[in-house]
Amino acid sequence: MIGVTILGATGSIGTSTLDVLSRNADKFNIVALTANSNIEKLFEQCKQFQPMYAVVVNAEAADKLKARLESVLPDIQVLSGVENLDYVASLNEADYVVAAIVGAAGLSSSLAAAKAGKRILLANKETLVMSGQLFMDEVNKNKATLLPVDSEHNAIYQCLQSFNGSQGLSDEVRKIYLTASGGPFRKLDLKLLDSVTPDQACAHPNWSMGRKISVDSATMMNKGLELIEACWLFSADVDDVQITIHPQSIIHSMVEFIDGSVMAQLGQPDMRTPIAYALAWPERIESGVQSLDLFSMSSLEFEKPDHARFPCIKLAENAMRQGGIMPVVLNAANEVAVQAFLDNEIAFMAISSVVENVLAQTTYHEVNDIKTAVNADSDARMLASDIIKSMATRLAGNKNHA
Ligand code: NAD
Ligand code: MG
Repeated sequence: MIGVTILGATGSIGTSTLDVLSRNADKFNIVALTANSNIEKLFEQCKQFQPMYAVVVNAEAADKLKARLESVLPDIQVLSGVENLDYVASLNEADYVVAAIVGAAGLSSSLAAAKAGKRILLANKETLVMSGQLFMDEVNKNKATLLPVDSEHNAIYQCLQSFNGSQGLSDEVRKIYLTASGGPFRKLDLKLLDSVTPDQACAHPNWSMGRKISVDSATMMNKGLELIEACWLFSADVDDVQITIHPQSIIHSMVEFIDGSVMAQLGQPDMRTPIAYALAWPERIESGVQSLDLFSMSSLEFEKPDHARFPCIKLAENAMRQGGIMPVVLNAANEVAVQAFLDNEIAFMAISSVVENVLAQTTYHEVNDIKTAVNADSDARMLASDIIKSMATRLAGNKNHA
């Protein structure tokens, strides 16, 4: 039996992972499940999967879960605090660690899994955005196995595997096509973009995901973060990766070789496919995903992204080209701006303005250790909050004038 820890078990990726695992219960057992504060869901998951450990970051919520589990499943150890995320990511019993916490909060536990030499199923793209070189170094040094769960990167990985079994790009690769749906506002009148609501932004046409990544898909910052992720995963340059809008989300990304061959991975837009691939690699297991009905598909379309509509793509490209702390700052400013948008504090198009402003006010320096990345992250968050506050003050001032 293979022991699995799921970091971020109560989220969209966590839930899909448990669904795949429940279909393959003869192969895997659950070592630990973690959540930020959603103990209702974690309690249900504990009853169904009976892990050795349940970690709840919030201490009060952890106490409540403990009290509820005591009478039904007293053997489950309930832990709290962020340090225990790292602990369950490094346990001997955990062969595989699914890194599915959202945002910068996932960095430390992903790194802990790398240091412990685990098979890491990486959904948390922020790990690579924030600490690409350091994380890849830890993976290599400790002989961890890194398998991308993000559907595009999983697709690229599959295309490269079919070619030479290696993860990195070789001279025989001409281009990576990183596909994107274009989100819910691909065709919306540009003038209306400023008045879209959080619920509209979260209503993704093809994928069902957490709210943060759904907003990132609507601004296409998600694709910017994924570009950075692809560069680190496959040792690629920004220019090796062509972001390609493919509204149907049937092709999940492609790799072109120097002989003109283009390999693509196709499938339903359902995260259980890349999750199952990463769990079973180099084999295959059942995922519960339906067959692709080729005859019901009308067409597969491809477009270049419109940079006026999606300014976040260029911001991410530039941050990656600059390197150092810039991708960390991009990610942190974006997290704060997305949260402010979700809380109805700023308009949709202000997300990219906040990020652009924070980047413009940041002085480049290198990232040689995690502390530097963490400090750059918190400085960028403070700056982003200040910019958002001044936007709100200006807005209130304008209203008073009117
Ligand atoms: P989600 O919001 O649905 O779930 C997030 C999980 O992280 C929850 O279990 C939550 O309890 C936990 N969490 C949140 N804040 C935390 C904190 N401060 N400390 C510890 N735990 C915390 O998110 P999701 O959509 O499942 O995305 C998870 C990650 O996977 C993200 O990095 C996202 O970019 C990536 N990803 C998601 C999808 C998708 O289809 N949902 C696809 C590709 C990549
Ligand atoms: Mg993706």
